[in-house]
Amino acid sequence: MTDRKQRVLGVLGGGQLARMLALAAAPLGVKTLVVDSSAEACAGQVAPLVVADWTDYAALEAFAAKVDVVTFDFENVPAETARWLAERVAVFPSPQALAIAQDRLAEKTLFRECGLQTPEFMAVDSREALDQALARVGAPAILKTRRLGYDGKGQFRLKSIADADTAWTALGAQASTHGLILEAFVPFERELSVIAVRGRDGAFGTWPLTQNWHVDGVLSMSLAPALDIVQLQQRATALAQMLAERLDYVGVFALELFVKDGELLGNEMAPRVHNSGHWTIEGAHISQFENHVRAVLDLPLGDTGARGASAMFNWIGDLPDAAPVLRAVDAHWHDYGKQVRPGRKVGHATLCAPDASELAVRLTELAKALDRVAQAAHTVQALR
Ligand code: AMP
Repeated sequence: MTDRKQRVLGVLGGGQLARMLALAAAPLGVKTLVVDSSAEACAGQVAPLVVADWTDYAALEAFAAKVDVVTFDFENVPAETARWLAERVAVFPSPQALAIAQDRLAEKTLFRECGLQTPEFMAVDSREALDQALARVGAPAILKTRRLGYDGKGQFRLKSIADADTAWTALGAQASTHGLILEAFVPFERELSVIAVRGRDGAFGTWPLTQNWHVDGVLSMSLAPALDIVQLQQRATALAQMLAERLDYVGVFALELFVKDGELLGNEMAPRVHNSGHWTIEGAHISQFENHVRAVLDLPLGDTGARGASAMFNWIGDLPDAAPVLRAVDAHWHDYGKQVRPGRKVGHATLCAPDASELAVRLTELAKALDRVAQAAHTVQALR
């Protein structure tokens, strides 16, 4: 009898994305080892956890020796840490791709090079530069940190040019550390995301476009496949493929899009599995998590098609009573095992149905039973 060597996936960051990656890796016979600076990281409940900071090179050296490949649950892992690891073990997506996706200015520049329009934008590095940017971009606008912002954090919305001082007070101190960018505020018709995957061999796929609703900059509900998007799907897929090829990207990523006057505008790219793709766990033939594991380990990619229609509720700050979801037909409960805290993503639920009209019926009932009618209202309306 020969020893069977199981492969080990290393994940930087131990939140819910790492947790769902580990759960998807297990049936493939792949073990997962997670690194996080907190011993409480919720992925540690389902996979072994190394507690270390991003600059603890002794711990990272030992981690690198134990894994076959390293990937991310968190895009703000310092690019320097990713580069250091890449000298020791395969890292996907590459540190170069990560560095571009970490910087809103670099990623928007790349979008334009690939033919994807974006909101008007300008880099801001001083108070005077903010005035110049406002003169060019106009108001309303959003001032954002270029790096280290996520889920609406590190952002200030300016209703008019008169808000410039307040915006600078809120974010000016971060101009020298994280960099700032001013973007035109887009009165979009809707928000979509395309989740894409590219393998080490260049194989490429996208899941059907997802429509998303945010509250205070944080994802609240997703619907997939988004409705009435036949032409947008082809365009979004072509753009995602072009971006992936330009970056020689390996793994899953999300491209967040606004639809304005029926045209796509690029908002941002997340170089990892994404909240708006959680519905793929039950709603697609192969989930974003499994395909990410397959991609980084050089396994064949699986079918990204939807099984029917799905809606996802995000649980932010607290969890509702699980019972209505546990009782409902083709509904799926996900509790991330985290302490509840205002603004924190602590779980989600996905409701599936054979088609959009049946999903509308099931979603209306479930939202009532969960006392979440307001949260689901836009999604129900989109389905009707
Ligand atoms: P972000 O962190 O850039 O993805 O922003 C979070 C959310 O804020 C987005 O999903 C949008 O709902 C909203 N948002 C961000 N940028 C803009 C923009 N330029 N115009 C309108 N809404 C925006």
